[in-house]
Amino acid sequence: MAPKLYIVIPCYNEQEVLPITAPMFLEKIRSLCAAGKVSDGSRVLFVNDGSRDRTWEIIQELAGQDEHYIGISQSRNRGHQNAVLAGLMEAKDLCDITISIDCDGQDDINAMDAMVDAYLEGCDVVYGVRSSRETDSFFKRATAQGFYKFLAAMGAEVVYNHADYRLISARVLKELANFKEVNLFLRGLVPLVGFKSTSVTYSRAERIAGESHYPLSKMIALAVDGITSLSVRPLRLITGFGALVALVSFIGVLWALITALMGRAVAGWASMTCIVCFVSGVQLICLGIIGEYIGKIYLETKQRPRYIISRRTWEPEQGAAGADRPAEKAEN
Ligand code: UDP
Ligand code: MG
Repeated sequence: MAPKLYIVIPCYNEQEVLPITAPMFLEKIRSLCAAGKVSDGSRVLFVNDGSRDRTWEIIQELAGQDEHYIGISQSRNRGHQNAVLAGLMEAKDLCDITISIDCDGQDDINAMDAMVDAYLEGCDVVYGVRSSRETDSFFKRATAQGFYKFLAAMGAEVVYNHADYRLISARVLKELANFKEVNLFLRGLVPLVGFKSTSVTYSRAERIAGESHYPLSKMIALAVDGITSLSVRPLRLITGFGALVALVSFIGVLWALITALMGRAVAGWASMTCIVCFVSGVQLICLGIIGEYIGKIYLETKQRPRYIISRRTWEPEQGAAGADRPAEKAEN
């Protein structure tokens, strides 16, 4: 029997783009269905990530128009990674395969055919990998390339040029659910789950409408999250660097002692100042990096929920259900 596919789409303030891209996703499900690759029970699952605009209303309208559209809403904005996770965890018990994709039309939905084919041939994870970034601005391209290189250098293994456009089978999602970390970096986590995987390349287009939510500051935050949640290499680098500085200082001490003993000590104010400034700067950076890890430990120990779903399109609306509440209370 053809597998049931859920396309999981995080949406944050996407009222401009959603009405344009939603029919494209539906069309894709229809064509995959017609080709007999997925079953008619397949769905387009929108995850509203606490949008402040009309995104949730649009999702509800879509759900009313066609049964293939469904949606869940997070109780507040929790960021892209958590929105994707919420959708995947919701979908894992309802379908056989999920494909997560952004809702802005930047990722070529036609790559889904090849992804589903790879699944049918036995792969449990299929990474969508960008073949070109010509449509991105030079700045976005350079920072994004730097992002992957830096991650790799810091010991966080991620698939090069792969964002969060990927197929994951329900089997893998059930294992992924056991990775309970609050510091979420799905790109690094999915390869850790294992199973047979492959990649499909596609070219990335421009955003159809609206604006990117990933300015440089958020990209840096994502990189720091990725590195600190996947690798302790920065801490090792600090240790190595500390050892190097200690060695140099030891040589310096010897040199100072010999110079003093030979009676040639000169008052070197400038060199002292430079050394003090440099070493204290290095120490502060090292403390900052260690602090980053301690902060992560702090957040992990609290074990707060990673997402909270407040509404679903296939349940009675909370607002509408309010009318029933007095009756429910009366029964109790
Ligand atoms: N997104 C989200 N929560 C956020 C920020 C973004 O769910 O806090 C969604 C957004 O709606 C989009 C996807 O994540 O579907 C990627 O965001 P965007 O297109 O702004 O990032 P870019 O493609 O520029 O890296
Ligand atoms: Mg985008």
